Amino acid sequence: MTEQTVSPMNEDQVMLRVNNLKMHYPITQGLFARIKGYTKAADDVSFFIRNGETLGLVGESGCGKTTVGRCVVRAYLPTAGEILYRGADGTVTDLAKLHQGKELLPFRKDIRMIFQDPYASLNPRMNVFESITEVLKVNHMATPDEMRERVAYMLRRVGLRPEYMQRYPHAFSGGERQRISIARSLITNPRLVVCDEAVSALDVSIRAQILNLLEELQSDFKLTYLFISHDLGVIRHICDRVVVMYVGQVVEIAESMELFLNPRHPYTEALMSAVPVSNPRARNAGTRIRLEGEIADPSNPPSGCYFHPRCRYAKERCKSEKPELRNLGNEHYVACHFAEELTLAHVRMVE
Ligand code: SF4
Repeated sequence: MTEQTVSPMNEDQVMLRVNNLKMHYPITQGLFARIKGYTKAADDVSFFIRNGETLGLVGESGCGKTTVGRCVVRAYLPTAGEILYRGADGTVTDLAKLHQGKELLPFRKDIRMIFQDPYASLNPRMNVFESITEVLKVNHMATPDEMRERVAYMLRRVGLRPEYMQRYPHAFSGGERQRISIARSLITNPRLVVCDEAVSALDVSIRAQILNLLEELQSDFKLTYLFISHDLGVIRHICDRVVVMYVGQVVEIAESMELFLNPRHPYTEALMSAVPVSNPRARNAGTRIRLEGEIADPSNPPSGCYFHPRCRYAKERCKSEKPELRNLGNEHYVACHFAEELTLAHVRMVE
C-alpha cells in the first residue's frame, strides 16, 4: 500500500506531525500464543497540528482515535510511523523512536492528557494535592513549597478553591473532578494537551462549562489541543480543524467550518446528519442518514474502501480498490474515489 502524506502549507507553524502511524495488536491463539493476525487499531494515520490550534479527532467508538491519542502522549509505543514534535526551541524529535524513562522524560512535561472519566482517572486514596503533584514528584520537577504554591494557583485557575487540595475525590462532583484532572494535566505547564473525550461523561450543563474553561485556559496558557470526541456537536463548538477516522484510518481532514459546510466523504456526511442542531432555523441540509450496520472489525476489515458495506454511494470499484487520502485543495483531504462527484448533505450554520 502506498503511504499517505499530509503536508502542511507552512511547516514552521506545526507543533506535531504524525506520519503513517500504525498501532497493530497481535491476536494470539493456543498454548504457545501463536500470532494468528493483527488488530489494526491505527493504520497509516497522518495529520498535523499547528501551534495554538485545536485539532478534533472524531469517529465512532472503536475507530482508533483514542489509540492515536495514546500514541501521541507515548502511553503506547506505536508499531510503526513517526510522531514528530517541535519543541519550544524549534528542535524536532520523533517521539515514536524514544524509549521510556530518561529519553521521554522531557516530553512528559510538554505533552499531557485529560481523560474521559473523572471518576476513574483520580486515585480515590490520594488527596487532590497528591494527585496533582504526582507527576512533579516522580519526575523531580519541583520542591514541596513550589508544589503547594503551584497547586493553589492551578486550582484557582480551574475554578476551585485552594483549600480543596487536602480533600479526597469522593468529596467532589463529576464536573469538579474534571476540573481537578485539568489542573493535574496543566501543572507541568504543557504546550500540547490531548483531551480524550474530556467532556463526554459529564451532564450537558456541566459540559458547556468545562468546554468554556478549556477554551479560556487555551488562550491564557497558549495551549494546543488534540481534542478526541465521538460527538460532532462538541467538535463543532471547539475545534479549528477536524480529522475524521474510520476503522483505524483517516478518511477526511478539513478546517472545521469547511468540514461542516462542505463534507466530501460519505462517512462524514452520515456523522453530520446526526448532529443535534439547537437553533430551530438551522436544519441539516439533507434528511438524517441512517448508518446501517456496525463499524467494521479492524482485525478483519472489508476489501477496498473499508466504508463500502455501509456507504450509500458505493460502486463496484469501491469493493476492490482502496481510496488514498488526497488533497482536494486548501488542505481539505479526503479518502473517497468519488469525492469530486458526490453532492453531500451538510449542516447549515444558521445561528
Ligand atoms: Fe463510499 Fe466508495 Fe467513497 Fe468509499 S470510496 S466512501 S465506498 S463512494
